Amino acid sequence: MEDVWDLVVVGAGPAGSAAALRARQLDPGCRVLLLDRAAFPRDKACGDGIAAHARQELARLGLPGLLDDHRPTPRLSVTSPGGAHVSAVVARPNHVVPRRVFDARLVEAARARGVEVRRHRVRTLTALGGHVVIDGHLVARAVVAADGANSAVRRLIGVPPSPDRHTAIAVRGYADVPPDDDEQVIVMQSEAWPAYAWSFPVGDGTANVGYGLLLPMLRQTGRPGREILHGRLARLLPLLGEIRSPVRDLRAHHLPLSSGRPVPGAGRVLLAGDAASLVNPLTGEGIYYALLSGRLAAEAAIGSPDDPLRAYRRGLRGALGRHLRTTDVLALAARSPGFIDAAITVAARRTEVFDLLVDVGLGAGTVPPRLAAAVALRWLKNLT
Ligand SMILES: Cc1cc2nc3c(=O)[nH]c(=O)nc-3n(C[C@H](O)[C@H](O)[C@H](O)COP(=O)(O)OP(=O)(O)OC[C@H]3O[C@@H](n4cnc5c(N)ncnc54)[C@H](O)[C@@H]3O)c2cc1C
Repeated sequence: MEDVWDLVVVGAGPAGSAAALRARQLDPGCRVLLLDRAAFPRDKACGDGIAAHARQELARLGLPGLLDDHRPTPRLSVTSPGGAHVSAVVARPNHVVPRRVFDARLVEAARARGVEVRRHRVRTLTALGGHVVIDGHLVARAVVAADGANSAVRRLIGVPPSPDRHTAIAVRGYADVPPDDDEQVIVMQSEAWPAYAWSFPVGDGTANVGYGLLLPMLRQTGRPGREILHGRLARLLPLLGEIRSPVRDLRAHHLPLSSGRPVPGAGRVLLAGDAASLVNPLTGEGIYYALLSGRLAAEAAIGSPDDPLRAYRRGLRGALGRHLRTTDVLALAARSPGFIDAAITVAARRTEVFDLLVDVGLGAGTVPPRLAAAVALRWLKNLT
């Protein structure tokens, strides 16, 4: 057995790196071990869209300039399943940074802050007194499980995986686009609703393009997932702007949606990011929640070592409680594509509504009752 670690973090994606960074920020003397089965830089299936809210989290972690060498993406265009359309400048620009770059930078920043980073695939976990023993030889006072959508640690602590009805699946690839393309494009689909395709320009003459839908809708087709995902993406490409090359590096992954989120841990093991099913059910955004929940998990582990789970739940409730309840309700309403048509129609007319929808879809926003009423009214009008 090695000496006891104050914190062992499993998974070095945004959630895990944020946890490790925050722990050393709070207590520069604490011993933090960050484990990942992969060597970095590594790819991750993702749209690479990094919301302004996520950059705010980076600043809180002491990394305000991490993406400064990447061009911001000032515009967002959304087409609803029924064809309502809005294209506008977002209040705070988003970024599109390939995960191979973004995640490796986070890991390097953690290492530079004194975190020990090791390549290691976690397979077993045992509670022993006030400690957790990992793979028989790593002893931790607390563990942050940030090992992604198929979290092994989540299984090991007895938390069931995300139910299919609260899980999406999406494929992404890269294609050439005009170098001056600076608009994130989302085209929602009435076929297999809820589903959408996207093109997110990286700023270097390439764009991340993809297509995603709910897992039960994919299963309903009775066809192999690859055939459906790749086929629909190919079919939707002409709607996504000026794509100048075939799509390459196709890769798919699950998205565990927050509408099916579990208790975020057990005892001294805290689940963060995708392992805690913290993906926005309306947009598939998860990087902001990963950074935020990783930070909160570290604050609980370091600040409340006697009962970290309780502190973590309190932290999550404070930061995201109202927002998650809002997106739970909106995800239910959005089962009717007409609701989204109404929301996009209203957003196209009123900038403050557009900004608010971005805040709900990419951040921790909530919907004021007056706006909910305006959208409901438009929805009813469309129905009659
Ligand atoms: C196709 C697609 C498009 C998406 N687009 C966007 C987008 O544009 N914007 C956005 O915000 N979100 C997007 N998301 C969601 C986003 O990718 C995730 O929410 C985000 O990656 C979650 O970060 P994480 O740190 O929780 O997990 P991950 O980034 O998945 O990191 C988990 C890490 O754990 C490691 N690991 C796994 N098992 C073990 C183990 N047993 N032992 C050790 N290490 C392990 C893995 O190697 C990995 O590095 C998208 C998702 C998909 C699938």
